[in-house]
Amino acid sequence: MNFSYWEKSTWLQAIDYLIIGSGIVGINAALTFREKHPNANITILERGMLPSGASTKNAGFACFGSVTELVNDYKENTEEQIIELLQLRWKGLQKMRTLLGDKAIEYKPTGAHELFKEEAELQMAHDQMQKLNWTIEEAINQKDTFTLDHDAQKFFGYASFQTTSIFNQHEGQLNTGKMMKAFLKLAQSKNIQILNGCEVSEIRTTGKPTIQLTNGQQIAANKILVATNGFAKRLLPEIKVTPARNQVLITDPIKGLKLKGCFHFNQGYTYFRNVGNRVLLGGSRNIALEQETTDTFGLTPDIQQHLETMLKENIIPNTEVQIAHRWSGILGVGNKQPIIKRLSDDVGIAVRLGGMGVAIGSLIGERGAQLLME
Ligand SMILES: Cc1cc2nc3c(=O)[nH]c(=O)nc-3n(C[C@H](O)[C@H](O)[C@H](O)COP(=O)(O)OP(=O)(O)OC[C@H]3O[C@@H](n4cnc5c(N)ncnc54)[C@H](O)[C@@H]3O)c2cc1C
Repeated sequence: MNFSYWEKSTWLQAIDYLIIGSGIVGINAALTFREKHPNANITILERGMLPSGASTKNAGFACFGSVTELVNDYKENTEEQIIELLQLRWKGLQKMRTLLGDKAIEYKPTGAHELFKEEAELQMAHDQMQKLNWTIEEAINQKDTFTLDHDAQKFFGYASFQTTSIFNQHEGQLNTGKMMKAFLKLAQSKNIQILNGCEVSEIRTTGKPTIQLTNGQQIAANKILVATNGFAKRLLPEIKVTPARNQVLITDPIKGLKLKGCFHFNQGYTYFRNVGNRVLLGGSRNIALEQETTDTFGLTPDIQQHLETMLKENIIPNTEVQIAHRWSGILGVGNKQPIIKRLSDDVGIAVRLGGMGVAIGSLIGERGAQLLME
């Protein structure tokens, strides 16, 4: 099928800024272009009917890392890099909350608990806690971020985990769907054109930047930003982003559910929270790392069984519960440092947000756009 003259001249020509991907990063890049260029033609190409990567699939933790996750980050990052990452996460969350408003995204400052099964793990995390609190204070000027909570059982009513957890007072939860809907609405209100059902199959970075869609059509633009995160390698095999699938389930409403807030477990690999009276539980890709290193959506019996067993044995045992829904999403992971760089004078990329995209997505989008406007 060929586009008509009208289609071409109305939607697909004279594009100043073209963004591939309408996740948090793509939309925030578009908003940043708009701030500087009120009259520019800014277009986002999205392959899905909705954003179809991680931004509409995630767990909605407004978080910046548990103790064991941060300790793990030190294996691949220097102290300066950790401080920079903490600032990025903290400022990114503030930016998003200011941009969209807490009411629109149903932000709740619940705090987050890191749970432990073994006493030795808790002890090891506790040993690092004070040092991390100092680092966080240096990074974001917040004191005593992590504290011990000796009554983790209040959420469960039994001792499946150590009764002491580590509480992070600065984290919260939000409604992922409402967050993305609010971002899309904001973009539309700023006259940003979002074209869905447009999968980019190739990108030409030299000469006039041009993309080709899977239907063979070509679209040129003055500047192009790639914001496809976990799918970046499909377009640009040389980019060092590893796709990582995360599977999630959510229960039917549970009468008298005690669990409230955000909970991390095992370096953040497994996470759960309440969504009203439901429990959302996801992650655990560490039990099948090779299988879950994929950019293909899907549910597998091993991970689903693992999550369900944890739900029924550890989180809400002795409770009648039905699983209401299951889904998966694709992260882009690496050494925790996002990739924001130019691929040529007029083409850039902003990807690899790991499991912190809710926190850092708005700033990564902003920085990707700024890079192309320098
Ligand atoms: C299950 C799950 C739970 C998570 N939980 C949390 C959490 O609680 N807190 C947190 O901070 N982070 C969490 N994350 C991570 C967070 O969601 C991501 O880091 C963030 O959404 C990444 O945003 P993005 O815009 O870079 O990528 P994406 O949201 O993946 O957007 C990329 C977009 O590009 C599109 N695209 C890809 N290829 C093409 C192509 N060739 N042509 C056109 N379009 C294309 C995709 O359809 C997609 O919409 C979670 C992720 C998952 C999967």
